[in-house]
Amino acid sequence: MVGVVGKHEGGWPGEAAYCPACGAGLERAVRYGRERGVCPDCGRIDFRAPQLAAAVLLRDEAGRVLLVERGPESTRSGRWSIPAGYVDYGEDVHEAAARELLEETGLVATIGPPVFVATNFHDPAKVSVCIWFAGTATAGEVVAGSDASDIGWFALEDLPELAFETDTALIEQLRTGKPVM
Ligand SMILES: [Zn+2]
Repeated sequence: MVGVVGKHEGGWPGEAAYCPACGAGLERAVRYGRERGVCPDCGRIDFRAPQLAAAVLLRDEAGRVLLVERGPESTRSGRWSIPAGYVDYGEDVHEAAARELLEETGLVATIGPPVFVATNFHDPAKVSVCIWFAGTATAGEVVAGSDASDIGWFALEDLPELAFETDTALIEQLRTGKPVM
């Protein structure tokens, strides 16, 4: 079953203004079925791609999930999310998942199989595709990282306000045992 959570309707702000190859100002033109930035000097087409993100779903023996409260500098500050972050260019996606988990929670974990994949449309200027991995903590102490205000384990029936529709969809899947996407 394939579904879409929170698909954005409308424009896609934040496109590049200048050609990354030659520095000329990009013009807008329809190429390959939609409007894109096109370089008037060298002809390069700005094929914009979503960013890749990796998240780690940790559950304790009681089935609770580990969530972080998003800090004042974060999107949707004060709401909670599954630990996640962007994959750096040249970085392995599993290593990125483990790195982000350590940064946000203080936990070292073995990264297991993917449990969920979805596109995050909540910020139309920064669309991302995220892979949620199952993780198993092997070391460390739970402590809120620099981007987080708080951290905690939550039962699926007693969650704080979540920041993202995609985390909500995954948790709904955990709660019902039925794939939502
Ligand atoms: Zn150019």
